[in-house]
Amino acid sequence: MSSYDYDLFVIGAGSGGVRASRIAAQLGARVAVAEDRFYGGTCVNIGCVPKKLFVYASHFAEEFEDAAGFGWSVGERSFDWPTLVANKTAEIERLNGIYERILKNAGVEIIDGRATVVDGHAVEVAGRRITAKHILVATGGKPFLPDIRGREHAVISDDMFYLEKFPKRVVVVGGGYIAVEFAGIMKGLGAEVTQLYRGPHFLRGFDDDLRQFLATEMRKKGIDVRFNSTVECIEKRGDEYFAELSNGREIAADLVLYATGRVAKTENLGLEQAGVELADNGAIKVDDAFRTSVPSIHAIGDVIDRVQLTPVALGEGMWLARHLFGETPAAPFDYDNIPSAVFSQPALASVGLTEAAAHDRYGELDVYISEFRPMKHTLSGSEERSFMKLIVDKASDRVVGAHMAGPEAGEIVQGLAIAIKMGATKAQFDATIGIHPTAAEEFVTMREPVVREVDKAAE
Ligand code: NDP
Repeated sequence: MSSYDYDLFVIGAGSGGVRASRIAAQLGARVAVAEDRFYGGTCVNIGCVPKKLFVYASHFAEEFEDAAGFGWSVGERSFDWPTLVANKTAEIERLNGIYERILKNAGVEIIDGRATVVDGHAVEVAGRRITAKHILVATGGKPFLPDIRGREHAVISDDMFYLEKFPKRVVVVGGGYIAVEFAGIMKGLGAEVTQLYRGPHFLRGFDDDLRQFLATEMRKKGIDVRFNSTVECIEKRGDEYFAELSNGREIAADLVLYATGRVAKTENLGLEQAGVELADNGAIKVDDAFRTSVPSIHAIGDVIDRVQLTPVALGEGMWLARHLFGETPAAPFDYDNIPSAVFSQPALASVGLTEAAAHDRYGELDVYISEFRPMKHTLSGSEERSFMKLIVDKASDRVVGAHMAGPEAGEIVQGLAIAIKMGATKAQFDATIGIHPTAAEEFVTMREPVVREVDKAAE
């Protein structure tokens, strides 16, 4: 019997922390988890889950329009923001309860409170000093707001889920996942939306064709997407906010949302004093086995800033729990071919390499592109189009990237991700029978590669 109070003490009951705790407990470890805010972390409470509920809500506006072409007449429409927020919050509270039960049923002790690390084997929480053979830091991240004048007038994504009043005019600053998703949500729910991105094209890291396609579609829907736009400061005059741009222009709004990235939550955790090394951006440095510079202290999820995605934190948590208390997985956690979706409107999803990255790695490529009007819109009258792209390494015929913009892009690309992870070739895609009539069948019926006049420069 170990002389420690626990085999594993987890700080943070978000996606990664809960998964690691549960698996460790199932493998026989004595586990405690400390949480000072809410069970399920960012994703469940102020991230993926409520965001997706808002995305559903915002789609109705277009669906009422689309219905007319199919013979429906939809009467007077109105949207009530407080109802959406209240229903969303009730669902999140239900999920909080589920997360708590998952932990309790697995035999994990839950401690309400903020834990700090004392040393490699001790933490302090709620006035108690607790010892553990292993400590796991899974505290996640928080929104980053640049240090501009008037930043106190901006809201962050956390706030968007609890706004009391629905704003008529919204300025969204940033060009990442959160900015693009909220631009679509707020537009769909009826706001006038301006999105400002500092660089020449938003969604850096995604395939260039996909990025351009999305910008076009968002503008078609009436979102004022502006690139090369830097906000100097935010001013408040009366009830209005003004985003002052570096080109001298200003944009008036009722709400300014900053979605300019997230940083690791490592402040005031006692990490540095305990000897845990941090990167310049505050993230915890870990090795292949999620071990920090203090070997008994581990870290997973957004706090290590590798890939800030819930399923990655879940995978890292499982890998670590098995490594510590079961059989060490045969290989380090695999970050290759992680699919992801942006719940923009239309949605985007990608797996594998962008064309530019594939070009750098493999040289000669065959690129297949299909852009079309989805069947539904032949009657709905909507101008929205869909886009699909496959990137094939010419030498091996392997499909090394798949990218899509269009309805259910995430659902479709999740399936393709299996094939790509398995190393499927284009010939195997071609040998797969499509499901007709679907949009997804395009991915197995693209026959002619596009001809590029010049190779695309690397990103
Ligand atoms: P991202 O890192 O995706 O994007 C941050 C954006 O802010 C970039 O466009 C960046 O520009 C810009 N930016 C950064 N600093 C500044 C600054 N000082 N001034 C102006 N603009 C700035 O962050 P998000 O906040 O959108 O999301 C955080 C993470 O959460 C994502 O990386 C993602 O992993 C995860 N997430 C995933 C979702 C999903 O799976 N659907 C949904 C939401 C979040 P530049 O590119 O020029 O650096």
